Amino acid sequence: MRYSVWILALLLFACGAPDEPDPPVAESPDEADRAVETGIDPHSYAEPNRIRVSHLVLDLDADFTARQLSGHAVLELEREDADVERLVLDTWDLEILDVTGASGDGEFELLSWRLADAHEYLGAPLVVALPEDVDRVRIDYSSSPDAFGLQWLEGAQTSSGQPFMFSQSQPHYARTWVPLQDTPAVRYTFEAAVRVPPELLAVMGADGNTFERNDTGEYHFEMNEPIPSYLMAIGIGDLEFAETGPRSGVYAEPELIESAAWEFAELEEMIDIGEDLYGPYQWGRYDLLVLPPSFPFGGMENPRLSYVTPTIIAGDRSLLTLVAHELAHSWSGNLVTNAAWRDLWLNEGFTVYFEARIMEELYGRDRRDMEAVLGVQGLKAALETADERDLQLVRDLSDRDPEQAFMRTPYVMGRLFLDFLEDRFGRETFDEFLRAYFDHFAWQSINSEDFRDYLEANLISPNPGVVSMEEVDEWLYEPGLPDTAVLPESDAFDSVDGYRQAWLEDDQSLSDLPAEDWSVHEWLHFLNGLEGDLDTDRMEALDDAFDLTESENYEIAFAWLMRAIETRYEPAMDRLEAFLLEVGRNKFTQPLYAGLADTDWGRDWGVEIYERARAGYHPLTRQAAERALGIED
Ligand SMILES: [Zn+2]
Repeated sequence: MRYSVWILALLLFACGAPDEPDPPVAESPDEADRAVETGIDPHSYAEPNRIRVSHLVLDLDADFTARQLSGHAVLELEREDADVERLVLDTWDLEILDVTGASGDGEFELLSWRLADAHEYLGAPLVVALPEDVDRVRIDYSSSPDAFGLQWLEGAQTSSGQPFMFSQSQPHYARTWVPLQDTPAVRYTFEAAVRVPPELLAVMGADGNTFERNDTGEYHFEMNEPIPSYLMAIGIGDLEFAETGPRSGVYAEPELIESAAWEFAELEEMIDIGEDLYGPYQWGRYDLLVLPPSFPFGGMENPRLSYVTPTIIAGDRSLLTLVAHELAHSWSGNLVTNAAWRDLWLNEGFTVYFEARIMEELYGRDRRDMEAVLGVQGLKAALETADERDLQLVRDLSDRDPEQAFMRTPYVMGRLFLDFLEDRFGRETFDEFLRAYFDHFAWQSINSEDFRDYLEANLISPNPGVVSMEEVDEWLYEPGLPDTAVLPESDAFDSVDGYRQAWLEDDQSLSDLPAEDWSVHEWLHFLNGLEGDLDTDRMEALDDAFDLTESENYEIAFAWLMRAIETRYEPAMDRLEAFLLEVGRNKFTQPLYAGLADTDWGRDWGVEIYERARAGYHPLTRQAAERALGIED
């Protein structure tokens, strides 16, 4: 499947361009043009250096039978280049019905437009011929039932028995439900009217969310802070709301609302900690939307309304790091944004660093260290098998699916880079620098070189002899983890290592393990460290002692099921099947399917489970699972 991407890219490049639009538009963009013309983002056909969308007015009907959003988008435009004669928008599988334009308060009139050929992972540029005076363009359209950025669930796939729909726009899937300049380099404000079946509630990552359904099924939203398109978010379902503080709360299906409100009760305190560290929270409210278990990610930092998987509701608040992470994005990412996906570390590295600071405030240094050690273990494993373009913070993604931006390097190595700077300059100086950095670049999309220049001018030069720009550049541009990294250590994990080793050497019985007092992180470290060291007798002994097959903590259950696949531990196979049928979080499903595919007994069974689970999975989860199982489409 991969090679066809290359061939298509080569064809596009060689032939010069997809279909030409009608006159007077001269050219439509090809692969080379895009990168050159914008100079910013090779994953968007838009030309924001010539003309920019500044405001979006969205009017949509949600049809759960047709699995479609349909309606129109009005884009308000600002010209950067007075001679610009076309507007190029990103679309992917959209059915375009009509394109009209207006100037000032004038009437909308038909415009000439053309949808060029679709690129495999970038979609099809919509090229609109733009008369001189037009400053508003309206596109009437419908999304495809298979839109990559939307998941439509039937009642049978939710806990409420009612249908559910949610979006996932990052990195470049907003174009599957709104025609836009779909690049993080462009920020715009928006307003939206959404009509849904009256038994359901619509929410958006915006101002205007109501706590209850109304009888008309029509909801209005507005976002007055400029956002990049990947933060566009909509959710529709049988939702209830519970308050967690004066400016925070949680939306969930009725069955989960009580446990969700308890699990996330510290949300307000987290916002306060974030403000103490990096300045005022600038988005008004901060709510969470708990999605059905098929949500392919842990969380998504949609502004004002972050999305979270229900698999972090553990009943003991042990998996709240993910919430701290999504909240932290309110500064790193949503306030100061990477201009292209090559600079993703500016979003994610800062956020992992910031998340750790919040967790340290809330739960102390031990927990922070344990989570850091787990993160670095994952990074080292990822670097061993990573593409050579992915071994440093600034990565070359220009001819790759932007989905590939999301691996450990920008997250964990990005955090280690900031740990390194904090260690050298001291926490107080570094905190001051970060606060000023967020102020300076607030509401902007920047690249790594913008950060590098700011760092040099405001931290490196004013404090001579502490860190050299050569050291900085090694982190940004040289492959591998620099020797200057300050790697985390955890006493708690050292103790777990000791117990594990003693048990494996029969020097200690399981009843002597202090496991009653172990946190989730200690458990994960214990189980992950047993890879390759277990047989079914040891599995049975662990299961008898700690009931791991029945663990209600999804992280522990997942780690245990990985060991169960490795050892073909039969008593856990029913749980494995049930887990895969219930949960569509890619972090869990992909390795479990890959683990089964790796065995001589499990691959066909894995395919059989997948075929049954498929209807409840998000397109992203399906894609990853099919690759893991070697299913060709
Ligand atoms: Zn993140």
